[in-house]
Amino acid sequence: MARGRIGRSHTGDSLVRTAEARKLLGVDAAATPEAIKKAFRHLAMLWHPDRNPAPEAGEFFARLSTACEHLLESAARATAAAHASTRKTTSRGEDRHQDTELDIEHICLGGQAEVALKTSAECTVCSGEGFIASTSSQLCPHCQGSGRVRIGRELFRCEDCDGRGYTRRVRCPNCNGSGKQIDTRMLAVTVPPGVLPGDELRLLGEGFAPESGKGRPGDLHLRIKLRPHPLYTLEGSDLVLERPVSAFVLLGGGTVTVPSPGGLHHLELKPGPAVAREQVIAGAGVPARGTRAAGKLRVRLTPVLPSAPTPALIELYHALQTEVERVGHNSLPEIAAWEKRWLLGK
Ligand SMILES: [Zn+2]
Ligand SMILES: [Zn+2]
Repeated sequence: MARGRIGRSHTGDSLVRTAEARKLLGVDAAATPEAIKKAFRHLAMLWHPDRNPAPEAGEFFARLSTACEHLLESAARATAAAHASTRKTTSRGEDRHQDTELDIEHICLGGQAEVALKTSAECTVCSGEGFIASTSSQLCPHCQGSGRVRIGRELFRCEDCDGRGYTRRVRCPNCNGSGKQIDTRMLAVTVPPGVLPGDELRLLGEGFAPESGKGRPGDLHLRIKLRPHPLYTLEGSDLVLERPVSAFVLLGGGTVTVPSPGGLHHLELKPGPAVAREQVIAGAGVPARGTRAAGKLRVRLTPVLPSAPTPALIELYHALQTEVERVGHNSLPEIAAWEKRWLLGK
């Protein structure tokens, strides 16, 4: 895998390569040469072809070496440039992007929500060293006993064994040598009413801390998702729910009560057919936010008939049927059409 020599000037190509190299090694723009070497060392432990039997390990290790060399050269150039310039740069941590599920109540009413943030913290077992002391001295796994490691084209003293080739340090089992562990931090977030799934809340200063430890942290971008609810769904800003309703209320009209996160609503139904229908209450969905208008509350009514008739109900059904026949088939046009086609004239 031949790679061109790194350019001596900051060409566009070089800047792209710097960004790629940082991504590969997991370091940010503020990383010191020591931090770059440390990151490379940790990755090399995982990817050195002598340690990793995967077929792609060799090529990946070579990419890591090239990236490390490039960043060390860039850092050396930046240091020279800093000496020549009085311009001070303040570092800022990376922004952080995360999804978070909110209840429908938060979306409609706003309020405080607890968000779990996974953070990379110093390993508590090895205090971030990546290694713990072993009882006996053993061949240094990092340099295979040579006391030196190659980074790019240069040989460096092995930091794991201080160049001795033997070490009493073994890779930490808690962090597998990375020096980092994942902690969960709970963050109380104030949710404004009217956020929708896909919206992003930006929390200033809740992103990653700067690698150098100085400067301000990045921002946290929380992408909103709706936690599934057994009754409510969202269609855009509209709040949708289904409700069973007596077929007699659909037929004769009446009042139907439905809930919403903001409280109860009463639907006044006019007499109509006993079929499923949607009833809409404007403005009772997700509230307006910014330029976005408030949504509707859409109630999908499903007719239900009594399943356990009592003698009194049966008597009423007969009376009802007699009345329907008396006023004629206008009230049952499907039956009239069917009987005209299939019964009359037979
Ligand atoms: Zn060593
Ligand atoms: Zn550890």
